[in-house]
Amino acid sequence: MNRQNQGQSREGASINTPATASVPTVIRVAVPVPLARQFDYGLPAELPTPAVGGRVRVPFAGRNLVGICMQLDPADAHDKLKPVTEVIDTEPALTDELFELAGWMADYYLHPIGEVLATMLPAQIRRGAVLRIAREESWVATGHTGDLKRAPRQASLLEVIRSGTGATTRSLYDLGYTRSIITALAGKGLIRKGSAPDDDAPMTPHAALETGPTPTGDQANALQALQALGGGFQPALLEGITGSGKTEIYLRLIERVLADSRQALVLVPEIALTPQTLARFEARFGTDGAVGTLHSNLTDAERAQTWLKCRAGQIRVIIGTRSAVLAPFRNLGLIVVDEEHDGSFKQQDGLRYSARDVAVKRAQGLGIGLLLGSATPSLETLHNANRGRYAHVSLQQRAGGARPPDFYLLDIRGHTLHHGLSNDLVRAVRSHLERDSQVLVFLNRRGYAPSYLCAACGWQSQCASCDTRMTLHQRPKVLVCHHCGRREPVIDACGNCGAAAMMAVGVGTQRTEEGLAELFPGVPLIRVDSDTTRTQRQLESQLADIHQSERAILLGTQMLAKGHHFPRVTLVAVINADGGFLSADFRAPERTAQLITQVAGRAGRAQAPGEVWIQTYQPDNQLLRSLIEQGYPGFAQQELAVRESAGLPPYRPMALIRSESADATSALQFLQSLPPALPGDLEVLGPAPAPIARVADRHRYQLMVLADNRSVLHAGLARLRPPARANLRWSLDIDPYDTF
Ligand code: ADP
Ligand code: ZN
Ligand code: ZN
Repeated sequence: MNRQNQGQSREGASINTPATASVPTVIRVAVPVPLARQFDYGLPAELPTPAVGGRVRVPFAGRNLVGICMQLDPADAHDKLKPVTEVIDTEPALTDELFELAGWMADYYLHPIGEVLATMLPAQIRRGAVLRIAREESWVATGHTGDLKRAPRQASLLEVIRSGTGATTRSLYDLGYTRSIITALAGKGLIRKGSAPDDDAPMTPHAALETGPTPTGDQANALQALQALGGGFQPALLEGITGSGKTEIYLRLIERVLADSRQALVLVPEIALTPQTLARFEARFGTDGAVGTLHSNLTDAERAQTWLKCRAGQIRVIIGTRSAVLAPFRNLGLIVVDEEHDGSFKQQDGLRYSARDVAVKRAQGLGIGLLLGSATPSLETLHNANRGRYAHVSLQQRAGGARPPDFYLLDIRGHTLHHGLSNDLVRAVRSHLERDSQVLVFLNRRGYAPSYLCAACGWQSQCASCDTRMTLHQRPKVLVCHHCGRREPVIDACGNCGAAAMMAVGVGTQRTEEGLAELFPGVPLIRVDSDTTRTQRQLESQLADIHQSERAILLGTQMLAKGHHFPRVTLVAVINADGGFLSADFRAPERTAQLITQVAGRAGRAQAPGEVWIQTYQPDNQLLRSLIEQGYPGFAQQELAVRESAGLPPYRPMALIRSESADATSALQFLQSLPPALPGDLEVLGPAPAPIARVADRHRYQLMVLADNRSVLHAGLARLRPPARANLRWSLDIDPYDTF
């Protein structure tokens, strides 16, 4: 792969430009195509000189693509060059910092620079839109007074405008004021249109609106320790149990950064970016645009505008999901990664980056602080803390004074289960409900039953396109493949022997819902999984129902486990803890322990103490025991020892090469052809079929590569020159999260 010029800094580019050639005639462009090289184009004399880091439109394989100008007049340019079609930017679209970060990402993830750069730009800007912030109409009070006694709406509008700084028309509509009320007030000379902020104005300190609660002793110690780290690059792990007040710590650190005229970036998992999260930040830092969000539910225009406002320094705090780690900042002063262990920070296709790891790199490049927060830190982060690379600060008490829940293991070997519930568990649920508390039942499997099989011959309903079982769903009654989405009618007669003996085996949330409804008639029962809850709004309305009732049973998948506070829940019931500890994926125990700890953290957050009951067929499982007896920190240290002796991450870096094809032989042969090119100091495992060997009629294989350190791994992988195969898709995943 030719990556000589990848990530070249702008300074580097200007050094390469001969001083005499004041008007360049050739430029080198990174084009968004899956090729790890850059392309040279002729610059017609009538076009302006593009900025290095600016966008240009160029012909490529019969199309016109927007690429990024990487270099002016490269010394080794070809003679015959196609001409640039359009110069879009004479100023860089990407900041120097992001330009360099892109180069690092291309090298680290072994991904084409043109695609990395394209990933950094919001869709509109990637397509060539102008870099201009849309001016929103806003209003300020003139200071004149008038008699509004008979116009109470106008009076209240005036109050609203007086109390803020630059209310936009849209925000006033949101508060219920109409255009005619606004015009009437403006007609009386009491308000006028505000002036647009100036992009180039120096950034000013941004003061917090309120101070927040007095820190607890624990929080005060943590704050002191974090502040003692100083202003430069020093990553810190903030390990704090659920409800210990980590968010409060973030808010206070951000407050200082903003007071220093700098900006802050807060990365959160997709599921945690709720209106409540935003409201909490806005209550502290203002509703007038100082806080911006970046997530997958924005329109292209919204995303582009937020990106531009952040780049201009108008937005002071960005709260965003994975891709927000690539947002441009004018003066970034702090990055917080909340729930840093969460798998959603790892992109699972295309440029397979980890937003957490990119955040570390970015903070290092900028020489700024980085805070990784979690109740259940990833083993990677704990390992870095253990060996002193990251500071390690803990919060051990709950902020509201509630105490952590008590854990009980329920041995269900030989027990009869009612829709997944043992009698002991049912009794526990009943006694909590009788005390007018809420109960949370956790089952990480949706549908009615994961298996539909014949009692006479054992035949199972399988997906025709995947190597998986069909999941039985009720209401509507249908068999669904959770991997490819195939739906089939439910058959009554066995597909093999014809006996009318088909039965549902195992439990999913629909089935447990049925059982709970029978056992506890009249108790409000709310199920939250991706079948009942497709949108954030649906989730919000379900949560509102939960908060309104006294007694209630909440039943759900991991959608319930993260981020939300259920102050009335005193019992958390985990239907089955075993699957995760037995899976073939080396990260499965870690993920399961995190999930159980996170769900457990929903219990007893207010005054009432909480209990966590866990059903298991493996009461002696060492990992489960250490989790129950020593808590997550004890589990984590034990699991780290397992990883070390197995030579797995975080002790040795890993990469996964995946291939898939409609034809099993091509997929396998492709991976078999790779190892000869890999140096002997790499440990190569496979190729082997992926754990689910066929999905949607495509056969999948994988090759695992491990090395003793990163430079060995990268040097080895960089030598891969896979042959082009038309009928095959393949990918390289550095630091894979899922080994599926
Ligand atoms: P975490 O992010 O660790 O789950 P939060 O910051 O959300 O914890 O705090 C949990 C709850 O405790 C929130 O309702 C928060 O408002 C409250 N809280 C946090 N710090 C304090 C404090 N110092 N005094 C009183 N309440 C606090
Ligand atoms: Zn049969
Ligand atoms: Zn399928």
